[in-house]
Amino acid sequence: MSEKEIRDRLVEHGKELFRAPKQLIRFTGNGKADSLLNDLKNHPHAFVLACVMDRQIKAEKAWIIPYLISQKIDGFSMKRLSALSVEDMRRLMSEPEPLHRFVDKMAVNFYSTVQRIASVYNNNAASIWSDKPSSAEVVYRYLEFDGVGPKIASMAANILARDFKVPFTDYYSIDISADVHIRRVFGRLGLCAADATVEQVIYKARALYPDFPGMMDLPCWEIGRNWCKSRGPECIECYMNDLCPTAKQNEKG
Ligand code: SF4
Repeated sequence: MSEKEIRDRLVEHGKELFRAPKQLIRFTGNGKADSLLNDLKNHPHAFVLACVMDRQIKAEKAWIIPYLISQKIDGFSMKRLSALSVEDMRRLMSEPEPLHRFVDKMAVNFYSTVQRIASVYNNNAASIWSDKPSSAEVVYRYLEFDGVGPKIASMAANILARDFKVPFTDYYSIDISADVHIRRVFGRLGLCAADATVEQVIYKARALYPDFPGMMDLPCWEIGRNWCKSRGPECIECYMNDLCPTAKQNEKG
């Protein structure tokens, strides 16, 4: 089976997801928290702040932080948030129990993100993406926030394009987010070595589909979560099984 056939099927599924109608994105599994994060019209800063919090803890725990803060301060307007000092943020993040593994650092990042949205984007975080920018510009604007690296910046741009249906002029700079699922799936599909580094997976995705490397992100993540599990792949259920070298090998026993 050729690499191209594997690429084409992943991209085809990615395009289906990209073209699907917009629906509520389940970031946390908590209805009220997800409503806040999906409300790009009135609370676009909630989505940006959740992205900033998404570091070295489970995604669901990171993405619920804006909602938990909103409960503590009785609202989530930029006016309310920008009145908080960094000390207020540290207290809100640490009491009565810590909201993040790195409370001190994340309190500073939360504070500086609010201040940057207030000063650079005139309190409207949607200005980061609302002028139909290039994908590189959106990733760059994200990288300007404290604590945001290329992985989170690319992930944010991908969610905006694919799930929120925000238009960009191109998608070249949206990379695959090479998490543990995606690295395992790339390895088993024979697209990379089984022990490929994050950088190798990112560059392989760029080589395979330079127009939009992140197009393969969600398909691979879903395959990894649903069937291509670390302790044993369920190849019979997986839609890649007729193309997958690992599935063929497992069949032969
Ligand atoms: S066919 Fe099996 S090994 Fe290949 S990607 Fe699917 S679950 Fe993983």
